[in-house]
Order: sequence, then structure tokens, then C-alpha cells
Amino acid sequence: MLILVDMDGVLADFEGAFLRDWRQQYPDKPFISLDQRRTFYLLEDYPRELRSEVHGVYTALGFFRKLDPIPGAIEALHIMRALSHEVFICTSPLYDYENCVLEKFQWVEDHLGKAWTQRIVMSADKTVVYGDVLIDDKPLITGATQPQWEHIVYDQPYNRESESPRRLTWADDWKSIVFSKPALVGLV
Ligand SMILES: [Mg+2]
Repeated sequence: MLILVDMDGVLADFEGAFLRDWRQQYPDKPFISLDQRRTFYLLEDYPRELRSEVHGVYTALGFFRKLDPIPGAIEALHIMRALSHEVFICTSPLYDYENCVLEKFQWVEDHLGKAWTQRIVMSADKTVVYGDVLIDDKPLITGATQPQWEHIVYDQPYNRESESPRRLTWADDWKSIVFSKPALVGLV
């Protein structure tokens, strides 16, 4: 199988690092804990008057490199490779890409080793990337074309409305979900 795995919210704990930095830098401002997050884009959960500060936190130099791996994520990638699957890290850069692009490569080298940097596919539009499955926390993934992959949702509080039939976390029996036959939804 050719398995595409998203980075933020699947391999790297974007939400945790944001909340930590936000509360440290703006201790008097409101914050939204992970279980209260409802929109995919963090910015949209915050009041309009705080959005430039929110944006400033996750575009800061060093932010992306210091994200903690989501528990079980690194091991899961190694298991997929050990089972002889092709695995690529499929990630979209921020529109304000200056720090995030380099730091995503550094993060992969830090946590997976340099060889894995050759397995990064960076595309704002994931529908143009070929694969059998894409494990991604974004609830609805659209783009220029009809994707070849089946979307497996990485479960997060902000994506529960997704209609994709398959959903996992690394704490689940993810192997049985990833390697099961595609759900023939709508086909009788
Ligand atoms: Mg993501």
C-alpha cells in the first residue's frame, strides 16, 4: 500500500504547542482547550480581535520544530515501513511559509532521521497527490481533482463532523483500520 500521513494534528502536536505558547505569552487572554476546539483552523475558534496574536504564535521562529510527536505516531510510521508499505508524510505548508517549511524538514529529521526527509510531500492541495489512503485530521479535504486516496480521519475534537467512514488514533488498533478493505459506502 501507499500510505500518506499528514503531519500537524497526526504526527506532530500543533495544538499542544500552540496552547502552551499562547498561555505563556498571553496569560490574561482567553484560551481554548483542545476538547473545546470546534473548527479545523485554530484561528477561527478565537475571537477576531485576538487573531493576529494567535497567528503570531504559530508563525514564530522555532514553533514548528519544537512540536512534540503525538504519542504512538513515530512508532506507527516505523511499523508501516517494517510491514513493507510505502509511507510518505503529506503536509501542507502554511500560507506564511517562512519558518514552517524548513522547520517541518528539521522536525522529520529530529524525530525520524534524515532519510525520512526524502519522504516528505509538501502540497497545499493533497488531492493531486497519489496514494491508497491519506491519514489526516482535516475533516474535509478538497482541491483541484478527485483524490485517488481514501481519507482516513485522524480523530480530533474539531473534526467529528467529517463524513469519512474510517477514523483512527494511534492509540486505537490503527492497523486493522488502515489495512481493512475500503468501505464501500453508497455501493450496494
Ligand atoms: Mg493536519
